[in-house]
Amino acid sequence: MPAKYIFFTGGVVSSVGKGVTAAATGLLLKSRGFRVTVQKLDPYINVDPGTMSPYQHGEVYVLDDGAETDLDLGHYERFVDIRLRRVSNFTTGQVYAEVIGNERRGDYLGGTIQVIPHITNEIKRRIGLVAKETGAEIVLVEVGGTVGDIESQPFLEALRQLRNEVGRENVFFVHVTWLPFIGATQELKTKPTQHSVAALRSIGISPNMIIARSDFPVEEGLRDKIALFCDVDKRAVVPMVTTPVLYEVPLLLEKAGVGDFLVERLGLRPSAKPDWGPWKKLVERVKKDKPKVRIALVGKYVELKDAYMSVREAVAHAALSQGLEAEISWVLSTDLEKGKGWDAVKSADGIIVPGGFGSRGTEGKIQAAKYARENKVPYLGLCLGMQLMCIEFARDVLGHEDANSTEFDRSTAHPVIDLMLEQRSITDMGGTMRLGLYPCALQPGTKAAAAYGEKKVEERHRHRWEFNNTFKQEFEKAGMVFSGISPDGKLVEIAELKDHPYMVGSQFHPEFLSRPMRPHPLFVGLVKAAKERAII
Ligand code: GLN
Repeated sequence: MPAKYIFFTGGVVSSVGKGVTAAATGLLLKSRGFRVTVQKLDPYINVDPGTMSPYQHGEVYVLDDGAETDLDLGHYERFVDIRLRRVSNFTTGQVYAEVIGNERRGDYLGGTIQVIPHITNEIKRRIGLVAKETGAEIVLVEVGGTVGDIESQPFLEALRQLRNEVGRENVFFVHVTWLPFIGATQELKTKPTQHSVAALRSIGISPNMIIARSDFPVEEGLRDKIALFCDVDKRAVVPMVTTPVLYEVPLLLEKAGVGDFLVERLGLRPSAKPDWGPWKKLVERVKKDKPKVRIALVGKYVELKDAYMSVREAVAHAALSQGLEAEISWVLSTDLEKGKGWDAVKSADGIIVPGGFGSRGTEGKIQAAKYARENKVPYLGLCLGMQLMCIEFARDVLGHEDANSTEFDRSTAHPVIDLMLEQRSITDMGGTMRLGLYPCALQPGTKAAAAYGEKKVEERHRHRWEFNNTFKQEFEKAGMVFSGISPDGKLVEIAELKDHPYMVGSQFHPEFLSRPMRPHPLFVGLVKAAKERAII
């Protein structure tokens, strides 16, 4: 059986929730018993988002195999509860790099290399790889950007070709658009949707379904109009009214009949009936009024919440599991350095210092770690947050005032965080960190071991620096416990304080493995400790 393909394109504006729609649709099909996977095509020229600023791109989401990918892959993994791979995300940059590499090797000797067919062939090859590598029966493919962008044209052309190659009966196009609301006349407008469908048609693609995102309820008449003007079945015009509860989207799409329509049009044979019980319960729990747990997130990119997408989700999952609602205060670490923003830190029940690169803002984060240690406020450090917690400890508890990471101070006499040996000779910045899943042995009797309830775990990494083992004994004597170590004994993976309710830092990024129904143990540990503090 050839795989079936569902393509998601975006119209009118970006940020209408195309990624969440694709993820939720994946769940509709998985819950009908299909093997489903999701892929994202990114039109930008960077090889991957790994070298991009979070301001530009939001979070870089890391997969098991170390691929540095778009944050939409986080949505796919969280909604569909699958583990994706490198093939699940590619960019224009990767496509061109491959084609140019082939050209230099002489693969096309004599030929002129063109967008059609060489670039489009490479795009199709990469889409085809997904079903082969994952064994998925249904591949959902999200095209980044908005129809009409110059960059995404080769992708759309490739999809058009693919439709003929794999057979029209095996391909379904979903176009996700936006209905603007005109305040003066109090009405929603369909014209931009019509235009974007016209633009899509001009490149030879007629959408089979239109999902129209709107901040207001959509009347029947409007659905009729979209169906008529855009030439789609009325059942396939799906209004998606904004919900503050992300995890409600699959339920909304199911209610709108999206799952059944896809089954019908793609000639699918479901082997299971969806059981929405657990999702409904989850959404009910999210919507219910709950006591709040206040978490201060001290970071450098806090103006852009997308930069910490998975951290935010992981906090929400953990809080929910404890019957609480997480209220995150976003604290700019550079503000703390200027004496600003401390109210949010001081009123928090727990503090998180997430990952980051470069020295800007690190001193503010170190001050936050000091505050957490001295005032026994629950603290979770993620990667950089773990490194800074160790630096703070070295400075204040061990008295090494100049302690630092060599990332920020190359000549410090106390490099408690240092470049990994393997990293010293690396000159290329892209894709060369310690990336992806690595095992970690938990030391019995520690907070980390108690949180996980396991002896060995595997977690996703993205870093160059690490704890410098020459300082290990000194740290241990003063009350730092290294509760997670790589099984070869060489790398510190988790550090925690002995005399503290919960001061834990991990060299890895636990946030990438948190799922709505399976919150991550280290986040649950933080929330539990924060809850206790809130009660006192
Ligand atoms: N900059 C640090 C390193 O490379 C931390 C990285 C991170 O937080 N992901 O080791």
